[in-house]
Amino acid sequence: MDRTDPLADYRSKRDPARTPEPVPDPAVRDGAALEGGAAGIFVVQEHHARRLHWDFRLERDGVLVSWALPKGVPDDPAVNHLAVHTEDHPMEYATFHGQIPRGEYGAGAVTIWDHGTYEVVKWEDREVKVNLRGQRLSGGYTLFATGGKNWMIHRERLPLPAGLAPMLAVPGKPALPAPGEWAVEMKWDGVRALAFLETGALRLVSRTGKDITATYPELAGLAHAVGRKQALLDGEIVAFTGGRPDFEALQPRMHVSSPAQAVRLAQTTPVTYLVFDILQLDGRPLTALPYADRREILAPLIPNGGRWLSPPHFPGADLDAVLAASAANGLEGVVAKRLDSRYEPGARSGEWLKIKNHLRQEVVVAGWKPGKGNRTGLIGSLLVGVYGPEGLLYCGHVGTGFTDATLRMLTRRLAPLRRPDSPFDGPVPAEYARPAVWVEPRLVIEVEFDRWTNAGRMRAPAYQGLRDDKDPADVVRET
Ligand code: MN
Repeated sequence: MDRTDPLADYRSKRDPARTPEPVPDPAVRDGAALEGGAAGIFVVQEHHARRLHWDFRLERDGVLVSWALPKGVPDDPAVNHLAVHTEDHPMEYATFHGQIPRGEYGAGAVTIWDHGTYEVVKWEDREVKVNLRGQRLSGGYTLFATGGKNWMIHRERLPLPAGLAPMLAVPGKPALPAPGEWAVEMKWDGVRALAFLETGALRLVSRTGKDITATYPELAGLAHAVGRKQALLDGEIVAFTGGRPDFEALQPRMHVSSPAQAVRLAQTTPVTYLVFDILQLDGRPLTALPYADRREILAPLIPNGGRWLSPPHFPGADLDAVLAASAANGLEGVVAKRLDSRYEPGARSGEWLKIKNHLRQEVVVAGWKPGKGNRTGLIGSLLVGVYGPEGLLYCGHVGTGFTDATLRMLTRRLAPLRRPDSPFDGPVPAEYARPAVWVEPRLVIEVEFDRWTNAGRMRAPAYQGLRDDKDPADVVRET
């Protein structure tokens, strides 16, 4: 190489009158020598020449040191790609894209595939280690010479990320359910958890970033069962009763951090970890891959049975049919996920839509709890019940679904019905009974709720309206 003109080779191959590529004058060289560790720019250009390849270029001493990668930049640390060392390019080339005319050197279309900055970890004649910060590429890459112009490029194994929140679904239905674009999963009523698996050890982290590993000791064998060096999984911890997710059964387990107590509870009420996504595997980040591809990678990793499994997803399924199946099986609902969606940590994304099975029915108002904060002086929540063989039984408290006008109307309607004692014929949980204002059970309202709990309570009831047309005595639980 001509030491006085590092671009002599580049220039000798190009005629500025014939190619749109930048061919700067030898006197004009910008860019400064990089200190070790200092940031420079990098660019990767997709080049549809006689053979498609990607040109990988790093700024160094005022030029772009370049390699041609026939298979592109590897994303899997286990698979190195060939990188053929080519002539240094001028700095101006970093922004070049366009068509190199037929008959010229490298004829074909050039587009910018990625660009950004990088840091030097090590720069020697036969080995270059860098950290890239681009749009598509980030993290450590090593290029090493294997003979002549041939080098290899290797992606460094990524450590598991430290802080990461799961991607969340938003309520809603796909506007135009295009079967080829969505997959439908059952919605599991449990506790969301990310599982960090590394060299046989498991760490479970809640949605809010809390370490909940000690709470679920029966899941400790998951890392060993998966049998890979490293994996980051996303799923739901669920307690099953009679084959159905039972959120109530999970409740006593959720707040236990004493290992001894957790081990005892794990024997009486064991949980199952339902894994529905994978974000990283053996140093390879997977979040940028489409959901469909992540599911394909996940499927063979989780041995079904025992305390973990990977529940099925239904690509192209009829949403209403799956929703009906979920209702028939007593499940909370379904989640529809776009097959081409990336995993966006911490985001509430319209790429994932949750559709819940709601129940509706009438209930009798038997009292109310005074409001707090911006509801001071108004109703906070309504204590409601249904009639059964034992009389009027408490079935829940309704604290949402009201407008301010509704609250004023209900306050007015309930005022003349006040009585000193509870009209319920059974007990009311202490936290709702005190302080409560009791009323004669005359007012009927309609509520929407997720489901009945085993204790005969409504999960998440919301006010829908007054039912003046209903006789309170007719209000019974509808199954
Ligand atoms: Mn090229």
